[in-house]
Amino acid sequence: MTWFELIKQVVRVPEAAAYYGLQVSRNSMACCPFHDDRHPSMKLNERYFYCFGCGATGDVIDLVARLFGLSSYEAAKKLTHDFGIDPDNPPAAIALPKPERPLLRAYRQEEVRCLRVLCDYLHLLESWKVQYTPKTPEDVLDDRFVEACQMLD
Ligand SMILES: [Zn+2]
Repeated sequence: MTWFELIKQVVRVPEAAAYYGLQVSRNSMACCPFHDDRHPSMKLNERYFYCFGCGATGDVIDLVARLFGLSSYEAAKKLTHDFGIDPDNPPAAIALPKPERPLLRAYRQEEVRCLRVLCDYLHLLESWKVQYTPKTPEDVLDDRFVEACQMLD
């Protein structure tokens, strides 16, 4: 396992986000630090983040790199330091089986990841549509309700 992979195995995205000051809600949403975000629109999955507002996405190293304006290498060093990871002595629990046909696996993972992002977005829209439905005809339409109506199809 490479050093970068080790970090990604050990440090979960929501954990790192909270550590570096993002407010992470119980459903793993946070206000996106990469655009002017009024409602939490960044989904923090264990291994990657995705912003429904600006489309920012990546893994835990990308998150830290963008937050602090670092290169991936510097971000990896920061995570290693801040989370006390010892590259020479990785925890036994993360010893993974040797990947077979890594390219195929990477491709599958990417496919699964895309599907998950789409599903998350769909669920978010569905909940917005219910949550932000105007109560009376005079109510100002909430952006989220409008977006949900437009995007659900
Ligand atoms: Zn964003």
